[in-house]
Amino acid sequence: MLSRLSSIAARRAPARFASLAAYEDYGSTVFKGDVADAYLKKQGSSAELLNDPTWTEHSADIVAAAILDWAVDNGADSYCHWFQPMAASGVRHGLTGQVQNKMIEFDRVTNKIKFDFKGKDLIRGETDGSSFPNGGLRATHTAGGYLAHDTSSPIFLRGDIVHIPSAFVSYYGTALDEKTPLLRSNEALNTQGLRLLKALGYEPKELVANIGLEQEIFLIPREQYLRRMDLQMTGRTIMGKDAPRGQEMCDHYMAAMSTAQPALEAMQEMQQECWKMGIPLKTRHREVAPGQYEFAPLFGTNTTQIDQNIMVMQVIEEVAAKHGLAALLQEKPFANINGSGKHNNWSIGTTDGINILNPEQLSKASGNDNAFAVVMSAIISAIDTHGDLMRMSIATPGNDFRLGACEAPPAITSTYLGDDMTNYLEAFKDGKTGAYSPGTKNMQMGTRYVRPISIPAEDRNRTSPFPYGGARFEFRAVGSAQNTSMVNTVLNTMTAQKFKHFADAIEAGADPIKVAQDALNDSWKVIFNGDNYDEANQEMLTKNGLWRIDSAVEANHKMVDPKNIALFEEMKVLQADECHARENVLHDHYTGTVEMEALCMIDMINQHVIPSCKDAEVGPVSDLATSVDTLKAAVAAIHAAETPYEAATLARVLRLETMVDIREFCDAAEGVVPADLWTLPTYKEMLFLDQTDASYVM
Ligand code: ADP
Ligand code: MG
Repeated sequence: MLSRLSSIAARRAPARFASLAAYEDYGSTVFKGDVADAYLKKQGSSAELLNDPTWTEHSADIVAAAILDWAVDNGADSYCHWFQPMAASGVRHGLTGQVQNKMIEFDRVTNKIKFDFKGKDLIRGETDGSSFPNGGLRATHTAGGYLAHDTSSPIFLRGDIVHIPSAFVSYYGTALDEKTPLLRSNEALNTQGLRLLKALGYEPKELVANIGLEQEIFLIPREQYLRRMDLQMTGRTIMGKDAPRGQEMCDHYMAAMSTAQPALEAMQEMQQECWKMGIPLKTRHREVAPGQYEFAPLFGTNTTQIDQNIMVMQVIEEVAAKHGLAALLQEKPFANINGSGKHNNWSIGTTDGINILNPEQLSKASGNDNAFAVVMSAIISAIDTHGDLMRMSIATPGNDFRLGACEAPPAITSTYLGDDMTNYLEAFKDGKTGAYSPGTKNMQMGTRYVRPISIPAEDRNRTSPFPYGGARFEFRAVGSAQNTSMVNTVLNTMTAQKFKHFADAIEAGADPIKVAQDALNDSWKVIFNGDNYDEANQEMLTKNGLWRIDSAVEANHKMVDPKNIALFEEMKVLQADECHARENVLHDHYTGTVEMEALCMIDMINQHVIPSCKDAEVGPVSDLATSVDTLKAAVAAIHAAETPYEAATLARVLRLETMVDIREFCDAAEGVVPADLWTLPTYKEMLFLDQTDASYVM
């Protein structure tokens, strides 16, 4: 009896978050820093070795021995090359590919086994390149695909598996994954950025892109999720009447995390799992829509941060299930309430910690008060020239429901700089050069008891797709389910190209200030500090010639625009055949998503909506029956399309027009069928954990 009581007491003990003891596992399962150092020292080396990527050529056996030792100490005896096939968002669990191999040698004669893991096992792997989306780059008879360790992202352990972050290419070296182009774009940014900075009198060793990825999700009762075919198959509700309560009171946003329902405990466990792998998930809170939550990490270098974000998404889905919840990562799981995004905060830094998007840091490090204005001019010019590619990089099926609505910035690419920075650059462009120092403002609250505080001179603009927010840009329109590699590939590549063009001109004798002024004059129109949600402003921006691409399918087609192929080729990020393949993959992903949604709709109408209406003898039964025929015909037309582009174009109409209309019949039926005869979980049952969850027993 006593032991039972004490075990209940132990279970109920509050998490030890008030002391660092809770973090004793932080980073214990990632092979870097002190952890790697201890094991590499036993092999006569040190963690220093990992800083130079050439270790894979001369010291792979040493690292492999250390990793095997570390893995076994942690109860792991398998490894995988962990890679990121194209078009994984939305359906593929974990967004990655992996084959789990034992680090064991089996002796056929003696039947004895021993641990075995060599350098050659670690640094490369081989797989079937034809069975992943490849846009025509691979076929079953030309299937070779190769995996090679990406040394810019640390090896980590989860469960019994050592995960080796890897790039994935074809037998001819064409990129078959999300990561390879990103790595190439990092090279371009580094090379061209160093050239430009050198021309401005500053010579750091290396440049990296730093990003911070905020992740929004929905958490709903698993019981209901398991009764919704559409959520299970496609991640979003294809039908469902609005609940009587939505966001009218803004009551969910940042409300207390209730201890009476499972979301808090689930999020704590998600954080703890991530901490072990050295993923610094710092922030958690409730988001705007009912049932919506967010995590934000501390930022880091882009490949590491993206790998970590992908693992965060996997952990979220798995841990949610343990708490009786289902996590929805999709951009628009529910109609008429906010969808989910993934803000991609982006800056460029030197490896010794100078952020070149921070005006004061750059002025001080370079000794050149105009260096910051030159860098900003290049980025502004890049947004103006390549806003279409920024739009392409966020053109996911789910985002088609968000961009343009008042929840994610519209599909018009502008940048918000704030009045202070805009005034500074305007003066710079017109001849008044010199350093920018961000202003601060003293804020008075009107009471003695709350003392004045100092705040930035800049307000925040949450309607801009790409605001500058003091030392970083925040790409706010990114979708929650995305692997953000292409987003960052585009940001790096377009910036690298402008850095290159600036450096070319300055090295040929042009005045850097004049180069920057000309670029600003050409591209001034992309700076917009007003309300991007306002339709009159949207019209004005469109008239001014900003990139505006409302359709995700048209945006994806920009992948093969001659301007963009030229950009990717010039920066050695993608060749023309890789661009064409990628476009096809994007279209197929869009079409595949819509087809699954349409087929779900057919089944749900036939198996749920029509039978419920018939039982209740109410509802638009004949309209529903006709709708099923319409859906079937539309799917057949998509199958008959000649090209992936054409199929995706038809799919978009099916999804955003035909299915939206048909949904109205379904939702009308839901409104009139008696509750006990309605067989699908309702929005009310899915979205309000605080009010409806009965499954949670402490
Ligand atoms: P906000 O409310 O501004 O979106 P959050 O704290 O939710 O703020 O998220 C900000 C994200 O931006 C975090 O992941 C943070 O680490 C990241 N971040 C902050 N500074 C930089 C920077 N210089 N470069 C890249 N990311 C940054
Ligand atoms: Mg943010």
